Amino acid sequence: MLTAAAIDQCLRQAQNLGLARVDAHILLLHCLQRPLHDRAWLMAHDSDTLTAAQSAAWQDALQRRLRGEPVAYITGRKDFFGLTLVVDARVLDPRPDTETLVDWALACLPASGSPRILDLGTGSGAVALALQHTRPDANVWAVDASEDALAVARANASRLQLDVQFIASDWLSALDVQCTGRFDLIVSNPPYVAEGDPHLAALTHEPLQALASGQDGLDDLRQIIAQAPACLAPDGWLLLEHGWDQAAPVQALLREAGFVQVQSRCDLGGIERCTGAIMPK
Ligand code: GLN
Repeated sequence: MLTAAAIDQCLRQAQNLGLARVDAHILLLHCLQRPLHDRAWLMAHDSDTLTAAQSAAWQDALQRRLRGEPVAYITGRKDFFGLTLVVDARVLDPRPDTETLVDWALACLPASGSPRILDLGTGSGAVALALQHTRPDANVWAVDASEDALAVARANASRLQLDVQFIASDWLSALDVQCTGRFDLIVSNPPYVAEGDPHLAALTHEPLQALASGQDGLDDLRQIIAQAPACLAPDGWLLLEHGWDQAAPVQALLREAGFVQVQSRCDLGGIERCTGAIMPK
């Protein structure tokens, strides 16, 4: 590639290499230090020439993406539920599907009062921060077993000036409800991919501990469903994200644990992606 490449040449190069158009646009805007949503700007400036430094950054970003790295790790940020999160390989790349979980969580909260919310396996902090941002009156706690993830989540909270309490805990094991109080809502996007799932091969850049969960992908969901009742307030909700084929087993696990009003919600692709229920008084 010539050092004096123009924007349209860069985009053609990406297309020839099989890169998705939207990925190429975002990566190029990143290398040009433009706002990442400003895709129209690229069209209007298609004959602008990159500097040598921008060209080098573009080639690097292109190669990283072609090796399967998520766009969000290359740009270092991801928009989620109207917030811009800083992300890297220490945390799962937040998926738009998880916004379904946030929408549902918001609908379950009482309209007033200061509901107590817990996010299990917070990763980048995406779910907890989206909830705290939308419901400033809520008291939000978030746990993760990974100190690396908590560092990312805490940095996001402080940059976004959102007052979420972060705790290092393997699911609910380190949580003291004497201190936090019982929760009106517990929400989680845990690891749920089966260990042998071929899908994992495409996700090698993300932390395996945030993705895989035993032979059937349900190990962590089982633990959460077993531990949550002791930490839920009367009539509190437990909402869980899960895999495309896990709605039925998660519903069964919730019923066995004594939950009521067991139900599932579809993601933007029409796949049953979240299941939740109430722990009665
Ligand atoms: N939805 C992700 C995927 O299958 C997995 C996220 C998770 O395990 N929580 O790509």
